[in-house]
Order: sequence, then C-alpha cells, then structure tokens
Amino acid sequence: MALRLHNTLGRELQEFVPLNDTQVGLYCCGPTVYNYAHIGNLRTYVFEDVLRRTLEYFGYTVRHVMNVTDVGHLTDDGDEGEDKMMVGAREQGMTVWQIAEHFTEAFFRDLDELNIVRPTVVCKATDHIDEMQQLIVKLEARGLTYESGGNIYFSIDDFPGYGRLALLDRQKLKPGARIVVDDQKKNPHDFVLWFTKSKFGHQAMLWDSPWGRGYPGWHVECSAMSMKYLGESFDIHCGGVDHINVHHTNEIAQTEGATGHSWVTYWLHGEFLIMDAERMGKSEGNAITLETVKERGIEPLDYRYYLFSAHYRTQLTFSWDALAGARNARVALNGRVADLARAAGESGASMVDDLGDAAGTARNAMIESLSDDMNIPKALGQLWALIKDDSVRAADRLGVALDMDRVLGLRLSEASAGGAAPLPEDLAALISEREQARARKDFGRADELRDELRRRGVLVEDTASGTKWKLV
Ligand code: AMP
Ligand code: ZN
Repeated sequence: MALRLHNTLGRELQEFVPLNDTQVGLYCCGPTVYNYAHIGNLRTYVFEDVLRRTLEYFGYTVRHVMNVTDVGHLTDDGDEGEDKMMVGAREQGMTVWQIAEHFTEAFFRDLDELNIVRPTVVCKATDHIDEMQQLIVKLEARGLTYESGGNIYFSIDDFPGYGRLALLDRQKLKPGARIVVDDQKKNPHDFVLWFTKSKFGHQAMLWDSPWGRGYPGWHVECSAMSMKYLGESFDIHCGGVDHINVHHTNEIAQTEGATGHSWVTYWLHGEFLIMDAERMGKSEGNAITLETVKERGIEPLDYRYYLFSAHYRTQLTFSWDALAGARNARVALNGRVADLARAAGESGASMVDDLGDAAGTARNAMIESLSDDMNIPKALGQLWALIKDDSVRAADRLGVALDMDRVLGLRLSEASAGGAAPLPEDLAALISEREQARARKDFGRADELRDELRRRGVLVEDTASGTKWKLV
C-alpha cells in the first residue's frame, strides 16, 4: 500500500516516493538546549517519531538526523533579541556549555521516557562551525550575501523563489508587518549568516572566521548539518508549524542558494499543542514539562497516548482531564492486552501472515489509516474495536496489537508479557479510602468516593470477596 504524506510544499497529500528506493533521509530540527523541553515541543518529537516508525513499518530504512541547537538561536526568529543560550545561562547561573550539556541530557531522557527512537545521528551546532563557514563561503561566491554593520547577511532579493514554502508572495508581507525592521538589512526578510557585531555585546561562544570573530546565525546550522549527514538532496524535513515562515524558508534559501539545485522533497510540519487558547511556549509562560506531568501521577506513555487523540496536523488543546482520560484508556488497553496474552496461552500472538480473515481485514484497515498521512487516531480506534471483538481469536487480536505497536510505540509487548500497569496510584488511593469508609460504615463518604471514581473513569463493585474495579 502506498504511503501518502501531506507536503507543506504544495499544501497537498502526495504519494511518498523516496530518492533512493527504500532508503529514506529524514532531518528533524532539534531542540534549543537552553531550558527543559515543554510538552508542546515534545508533541512535535512524538509526531516525528511516529513518522519514522511509519516509514519503517512500510519497509523503508530511515537515516534520521537531528541537530541540537547550542548556539545562535536568538529569542526572536527575525534576528532580534538575545542568544537563548545566554538567557538560559543567566537564569540557571551556569556557563553556556554547562547549560547545553544539562539540557541536552534532560531532553534525551524525555525522549527515552516517551519511547521515541533515538535518531541515527544527533549533531551539535557547536561541533559544525567549519561546515557552516564553508556554506557561507559558497553563498558568498554565488553573490547571495552582503556585509552590513559587521554581520554577514543572506540577500533574499538575489535568490529567486524565496519564500515558496511559506507562500510569502501570497501572504504579501509588508516590510515590518511580521518581523522587526532592521536598518542593517537591505530587505527586512534578509537574515544573518554570521554575526561579528551582534546587537548585544556579551556572547560567550565565539569562533574565528573569514569575516571576523563571531558566531553563526541559527538557520545556517540546519542547512550545513543536514547536507553533511544526508547529502545535498534528501527526502523529508520536519519541524513544528512555527518553522514554516522563517526558519525552514531560510534553510531552503541557503541550501538551494549554495548548491544550485533542489534540496528536500517533502516538508512535514506538526501542529501546536495549545494551552488556554494560545500556543504552549516558554515565552508565553504556560509551559508544562514532562516532569510536572509525572508529578501528577501520569506516565510519559500516557502523554504519548493522549497525543494520539488528534491528527498531527490539527491543533490539540491541552487539559489535565483529557490527559487523565488518556491515562485510564492506556491502563485499560494494557489490561486488555494482558488478558489477550493469557487467553492466547503458550502459542502466544499470531504472526501477521497467519491471521484469520477478520483480524487480517481489520489490520489492513489500520494500515490504510496509517497510509493516509498517518491517521493515528483512526488506526487506534480501529485497534480498540478489534481488541474488543470477542468473535476474533485472542491470538490474532494480540498479534495485530503488537504489530501496530511498532508504530504506536506504547510498549504493549510489556503488557502482553504480564507487566500490565496496575491502577494509577491516585485512583488506587481513592479505592482504598472508600474501603476504609465502608469498614467504618460511613456509607455516605463511600458513595461520594464511588461517584468521584466514576467521574474519573473507574467503576467499582462491592462483591463478597472485596471491592472489584474496572476502567470504563
Ligand atoms: P525549539 O526548541 O524552540 O526550537 O522548539 C523545538 C520544536 O518544538 C520545534 O520543532 C517547534 O516547532 C516545536 N514547538 C514549539 N512549541 C510547540 C507547541 N506548543 N506545540 C508543538 N510543537 C511546538
Ligand atoms: Zn532547523
């Protein structure tokens, strides 16, 4: 079955055809390591992980490259403000290098906990200053740069087709409408390739260069590193939707400006996680980290499951209630999988080639959903329907669940091996509080607790052998 993906370049669903048969080159813009990732950022990395897993499910071998931005990303994407690393260093009372190390480690810990497969190559901007300088030299030779006020700029008026990813011609952006007008720039959309005189005097990371001692602009790192690890043309480039207008638009200008030919075939962008009607973000002051989620008794994989409630191209509005609902659903899913494993017995899960008709048909429908621009919410719904269908052999249902989990990444094999998650702690505490209330014959309190549990998705039943519960 052909895989169809939504290409931002063209704004349409397109059949995925890689440049090299079954080998796929995938580049994903990585984190700026000046603070903890928030769960909005992590939504984008889960989307990219699902993309990689889907490609592998469809039989491709994926070379997945991710950069770590540890220099040059200013607080404003239009070259204004301060290097985020400096902000982080000041806030935490550490050097920029310590900041980078600390938050890079924290980032990969989050990825591991979300069961995100580590990229094939992780590359740090500060390890690739030479490659960035070589790229700027090429752009200079092609007449695409100018020097102004001590900085080297990319001149967008000298690059035909600038802004085709962002559809800038259609947006008819007036100078200064979306980005700050900078006297140094010939065109307000020009951007810095190399800073020697920044707008602030205290950058901590500096390198010698043909243009003087300084540091690179943010966009140039992704062009230089992606070409180093994936070649001058490759298949897929990803990021969050906020990268379309400036960062990715500028990456295309630099890379295609330097090579003179087309660079990336498919551009995929994940939509935002929304909080109180605005994007979740550090500067918006509404960021929640995975640590905070865990403190509330919700596991990282519950958050992963929660993300599957929306397609990656639709905004998802965060709520703690919905997250708790996802947690209950995942506990129930693990319970079902454990039941199926017990019912399947010694012979275990069916191999996908040995499925009976019903399970085979259901699996094909799930693959169809995946092939339709990775419609995970639909595939997960179809999986639930199959799991609940008692007319299908347990071994078949289990086989399909484990097979789909290659993409979902919910570690269902652990549940199937008998490790189904117990009831989350806070719910278990409510059940035990209710048992104590019943023991002291406080039936009013016991009923209140029964209602509270019901609201939180747990149905309790009092039997001769004690309280039984089930997730609904
Ligand atoms: P940054 O570390 O700021 O470069 O962001 C890392 C990734 O997270 C980028 O791909 C952003 O597009 C993405 N991102 C930022 N905010 C959100 C959000 N609220 N929801 C989803 N993705 C986001
Ligand atoms: Zn990038």
